[in-house]
Amino acid sequence: MKKNLKSARFIVAIDLGGTNIKVALFSLGFKMRDRLSCPTPVLHGRQAVIVAVLEMVAGLLSRRKISAGSISAAGIGVPGPVDFDRQVVHFLPNIPGWRNVPLSSVFTSACGIPCVVDNDAKMMALAEYTLGAAKGSRNAVCLTLGTGVGAGLIIEGKLYRGADNAAGEIGHLPLNENGPACPCGGKACLERYAGNGALLKEARAALGASITLEKASALAAGGNRKALRFWRTASTHIGIALAGLSNVLNPDVIVVGGGVSSAGRPLFDGLKENLLRRAMPVQGRRVKVVRAALGSDAGLIGAALAAAGRTRA
Ligand SMILES: [Zn+2]
Repeated sequence: MKKNLKSARFIVAIDLGGTNIKVALFSLGFKMRDRLSCPTPVLHGRQAVIVAVLEMVAGLLSRRKISAGSISAAGIGVPGPVDFDRQVVHFLPNIPGWRNVPLSSVFTSACGIPCVVDNDAKMMALAEYTLGAAKGSRNAVCLTLGTGVGAGLIIEGKLYRGADNAAGEIGHLPLNENGPACPCGGKACLERYAGNGALLKEARAALGASITLEKASALAAGGNRKALRFWRTASTHIGIALAGLSNVLNPDVIVVGGGVSSAGRPLFDGLKENLLRRAMPVQGRRVKVVRAALGSDAGLIGAALAAAGRTRA
């Protein structure tokens, strides 16, 4: 499809999550101009999800009185592995019915907008690296702590993809020999200790059934010993993984984002302490641990940046 790039003035970014679909319109300078979101129709099948995405894109263009011809490209971040070269979504663990979906070509044939699809953790890493907390760094690990634990790796200024575009699955780094089984097929994966579900279970055991992670952070900030011990254990598990990763990759910075990162100091102090104690001296002294700067918009911003990389007619 040919497009007159001179008339292109906007980029469409789509963050297709397991809970919500977010769609945003960006200027070519990556300023967000408008946005829409809706719950992901997870239980209604693949087609319903694709229709929801297309309707939101159409809705956004129509309310801004913009034609599809003014869009240079779209980026779609998805929560699962993507065959990047073929632009095929392998599967989405938390959205049933997605297996080998050529999402990019489905999207482009439906609305005429060129499109790039990638894994959401990679898009978030691209965003933090280009415009957020890892800006200026050449070697960065961008970690997302939420229901899932994932990462995007920037090595020598480039997003590292691995042989199957599957690099960065730090949530599935095994911490020991015989820990709990993981749906990925492994055992003792970091996500089994530091994913939202595991943390909440630990927090409830330590601090009572009505605890939330937000309350556990507030208690720790107020000096509550049980809460401090809970975050110390959590940050030790994550810190072990980060120390190993620092020794291997020697990053300048580890950016920590996702819902769990709002725990703030009780988590970050523990991570820094573990890194200094466990990583090798050169790598441990080098690496900074910082909170993600772009918050929950990182996925959308990364999708817009990825789309710009594909801005070609
Ligand atoms: Zn696993």
